[in-house]
Amino acid sequence: MGLEFKLDLPSGTNLKAGEEKEQLFDLAIVGGGPAGLTAAMYALRKQLYVVLISPDLGGQVLLTRGVENYMGYQYITGPELARKFSAQVRQFTLKLAQGESVTRFSQDGKGLFQLVTSTDRFITARSVILATGKRSRPLNVPGEQEYLGRGVSLCAVCDGPFFKELPVVIVGGGNSAISAALDMLDLGSPVTVVNVADGWQADSVLMDQLRDRVTLLDAHKVTEIHGDKEKVSGVKITPRDGGAERTLDVRGVLIEIGLLPNTEALAGFVALNARQEVLTDCFSRTSRPGVFAAGDCTSVPEKQIIIAAGDGAKAALAAHRFLKHIPD
Ligand SMILES: Cc1cc2nc3c(=O)[nH]c(=O)nc-3n(C[C@H](O)[C@H](O)[C@H](O)COP(=O)(O)OP(=O)(O)OC[C@H]3O[C@@H](n4cnc5c(N)ncnc54)[C@H](O)[C@@H]3O)c2cc1C
Repeated sequence: MGLEFKLDLPSGTNLKAGEEKEQLFDLAIVGGGPAGLTAAMYALRKQLYVVLISPDLGGQVLLTRGVENYMGYQYITGPELARKFSAQVRQFTLKLAQGESVTRFSQDGKGLFQLVTSTDRFITARSVILATGKRSRPLNVPGEQEYLGRGVSLCAVCDGPFFKELPVVIVGGGNSAISAALDMLDLGSPVTVVNVADGWQADSVLMDQLRDRVTLLDAHKVTEIHGDKEKVSGVKITPRDGGAERTLDVRGVLIEIGLLPNTEALAGFVALNARQEVLTDCFSRTSRPGVFAAGDCTSVPEKQIIIAAGDGAKAALAAHRFLKHIPD
């Protein structure tokens, strides 16, 4: 994720080897997407001593071709928006462990949080914001990676409007997939929905709105996504029971087969829900006092940039209140 994007931070802000050992941070922010970067900006404006640990700066925004629903920009590319977020954080001095991820979380007897990174760096902080985001579950079929952003989308809410009036296939059988199909119908696209599982999982109220308006193909496998190198031209599918392969001529492949929160390292540290998302209350508090969470890794509904950014702001203000003992 984010290989195309490098943050040009002023010298002196990157955490040097061993430097973290002598330091106690007010706040450690884990994740450099919209939630983490916005949290950093708010915390730094509150003059907290902040370290941000993240493999990349931008998160999923780096994977987004174009954004039309972040206020202030009628259209902006994902990498450009990520660059603007980073530049805003850069106005302040923070310590950055870029290119690293946190692999272990614990709390010592004095209540301080100990974070171990992928390079075995030990970071100690008085509070933590978890902003590790999520990743869309991929199909893992030939052509998917090659055409990502050129016809293949892992976020129908985000990219659907780019396929207005063009034929699309929506892959999935749950509420997200069926909602995406309804949205695409509203945009005048001919829609085929291919369920890679056996049986539709979407609510019947949604399915009822869809029937007779789209082609519904239950229990199929997508075997390949192909195109002319520049854009998608079709997908190959076969029935799961072994029938003949066929090709659907489409310009868009919207994959909605679930989300995977990046919370594997958090199990046992904070409470997660059944979807493995960090449970938060309306003050962005997790089950562990002093640990806050924001954005797509949390149980907050709707996964969007503006929501993650707002959530990051809220978490930073909550962490500040916690550190200064200000009652909610
Ligand atoms: C293809 C695509 C297109 C999209 N288009 C739009 C759109 O047009 N409009 C819109 O509003 N939303 C869009 N979204 C959704 C939007 O990008 C997300 O909702 C938003 O990025 C969530 O922000 P976040 O900071 O919570 O998480 P993320 O953006 O996922 O960032 C999480 C960060 O945490 C880091 N991280 C993960 N694990 C660790 C760890 N263990 N230690 C340290 N760091 C870690 C990641 O590397 C990343 O930097 C799109 C998503 C995708 C995939």
